[in-house]
Amino acid sequence: MAKQLDYHSIREIFTRFQAAEAEPKGELDHVNAYTLVVAVALSAQATDAGVNKATRGLFKIADTPEKMLALGEEGVTEHIKTIGLYRNKAKNVIKLSRILVDDYGGEVPNSRAALESLPGVGRKTANVVLNMWWHYPAQAVDTHIFRLGNRSGICPGKDVVAVERAIEDHIPVDFQQHAHHWMILHGRYTCVARKPKCGACLIRDLCQFEDKTE
Ligand code: SF4
Repeated sequence: MAKQLDYHSIREIFTRFQAAEAEPKGELDHVNAYTLVVAVALSAQATDAGVNKATRGLFKIADTPEKMLALGEEGVTEHIKTIGLYRNKAKNVIKLSRILVDDYGGEVPNSRAALESLPGVGRKTANVVLNMWWHYPAQAVDTHIFRLGNRSGICPGKDVVAVERAIEDHIPVDFQQHAHHWMILHGRYTCVARKPKCGACLIRDLCQFEDKTE
């Protein structure tokens, strides 16, 4: 794990991320808050591209909890069976849709606790939804952010909660909103797991990773 980078290095890193991509976007397709919750819940242990392929047809016929309930567990299973853990995920989609209809009038609640109480929705999913739909500076730490944060020193931590706290504590407030997507995209496409592309990395001079590639 790298040492926590200082304020000026972090400000410079995010200034560069911002210059390269002013409005970074997530890659999960959705048409409203409900379909975003479902898409993020489906994305556990699956790629965004794989989830998008499955939800393309699903969201055409079921873009509200009421329509999802009408489709039923078997119908959902049929649409998502190319995604890992699909049986369990289909169960959770139906269960969470039932709760949204019964307890929230069919709307998606926007507190972390209420979101996390939904079946199949953990802290990471709740934070993604708060960030992407409500533009709240919530920091969802996935495998890409965890790796990048620990290699570079942007937000080192021994577990995801420690990394989440390091992001909240160390990234200047004007970069908090988009920090999630800048780091996910950098981790997914440049600071990749096996052989990071350090030679093409725009923060190479500031990153503390000791085994940089050429
Ligand atoms: S220099 Fe290499 S290790 Fe550091 S952030 Fe860039 S790609 Fe990752």
